[in-house]
Amino acid sequence: MSHGFPEQASFIELSASALRHNARVFRGIDATAKTPRRLGAVIKGNAYGHGFEAMLPLLHEVADVLYVISAQDGLRIRERERDEKLERRDVLVLGAVGPRELRELARAKVGVVLSDLSWATHLSALNEPLEVHVHIDTGLGREGFSQPELPAVVELFRTNAGVLKPAGVLSHFANVEDVTEQGYALQQVAAFERGATTLEAALGNVKLQRHMAASAASLVLPQARFDVLRTGIALYGLWPSAQTRLSARVVLGEAPVLEPVLSWRCKSQAVKWLEAGAYVGYGCTWRATERTRIAVLPMGYFDGYPRLASGKAYALVNGRRCPLVGRVMMNHVVLDVTRAAPEAPEVVATLIGHDGDETLSADALAGWADTINYEVVARLGPHLERRVID
Ligand SMILES: *Cc1c(COP(=O)(O)O)cnc(C)c1O
Repeated sequence: MSHGFPEQASFIELSASALRHNARVFRGIDATAKTPRRLGAVIKGNAYGHGFEAMLPLLHEVADVLYVISAQDGLRIRERERDEKLERRDVLVLGAVGPRELRELARAKVGVVLSDLSWATHLSALNEPLEVHVHIDTGLGREGFSQPELPAVVELFRTNAGVLKPAGVLSHFANVEDVTEQGYALQQVAAFERGATTLEAALGNVKLQRHMAASAASLVLPQARFDVLRTGIALYGLWPSAQTRLSARVVLGEAPVLEPVLSWRCKSQAVKWLEAGAYVGYGCTWRATERTRIAVLPMGYFDGYPRLASGKAYALVNGRRCPLVGRVMMNHVVLDVTRAAPEAPEVVATLIGHDGDETLSADALAGWADTINYEVVARLGPHLERRVID
C-alpha cells in the first residue's frame, strides 16, 4: 500500500459516491429554474483538508467551475487536465495574485478576481487577455470594492481594454449560516445587484456572470443563487451550521441529505491491559478505576486531531463508542476499548465516519473542540494518506 507513508498511521478515506450524491443535491436544488445553474466547487484550504490532489479528479468530474485560492493551485489544475487529458473546466482564483502570476494565469486561461487596484500598475506586463471577475464587498468587510469605488474599476478596464476581459462579478455573504433570519443577507443581495448592474452598464452592456452563494445561501436563499453556485463545505457533505440545516428544512420543504465525503481512521499501535489505578497520558488526568483495555493510536494534534477534545471525545471501534482517555498528545491518542475489543490484538478506530451502525461526525468532533466543522477538516494534516473509495 505504501506511497512513502508509514504503515502505522492514520489515513483518510474519501468517498467518490458521497461527493456525486452531494453534487446531485445542488444540481437538483431548483431544477425548475429557467436556465440551468452552473455548479462551482471551492477547493481552498487543501480542499477543506480532504486533500487537493486526491479531490481534484473527483471535483473536476462533478463541477462546472473550480474555485481555488492561489494562482499555483489554478495552474496545477491546468497541468492535471493536460496530463490526464481531461476536458478543461472554468477555473477562477479567488485569492490574491501577484503581478508575475498574472501572465501565467492569462496564458493558462485561468480567471482572476479583481478585488483591489493593487496590481493594476503591473498590467503592462500582460500580453494576452486575462479573464477578470470583480469582487464587490457588499457587507462582509473583507476583500472587494465598495459601490463608490466601481468607477475606478471601470476606468481600469477601459485603459486596459486589450488585456482585461470583464467576465464576472461576485460577492460573499457575512451572515447566512449563523442565523435563521436573512435580513442582512438580503441587503447584501440588493447591494450586489446594484453593483453588478452599475458595472454592466458602464462597461458597455457586457453580460457578467454573477455568483454570490456559497453552500448556505445556495441551500436557503433562492434570491442569491444567480448564475453559479460557489459551494464548498456542503459539497464535501457537511452542513455549514445547524441553523442552515433548520432553514433548509423550511425553505426546501425538507432538509436534503448530505453525505460526508471524508472518513478518518487509524490502526492501533498497541492494545493492552492496564490495571486498576494506572494513569494515562500527560498530566495524569485519567486514571483507571478498573482493569481497562486501552488502544494506543499513532495520531495526535500534529495530524489535526484537536487537543481541546481531550476528556470529551470518543472514537468508534467495532461499531461501538470508545472514550478517549487522558490528553490528546502530539502523536498519540489513547482509547478505552474494554467493551469494544476485549480480545483483539489490534483495532482500527474511526475518528470521523461510520463504523457499523454508529457514526461520528466532524460536527461532533468540532463540538468537543469548541470550533466548527470547517476548522476540524481544514486542519487535517496534508501529510496523511488519502485513499479514494467509491
Ligand atoms: C469559502 C468560500 C466559499 C465557500 O463557502 P462554503 O461555506 O464552504 O460553501 C465561497 N466563496 C468564497 C469567496 C469563499 O471564501
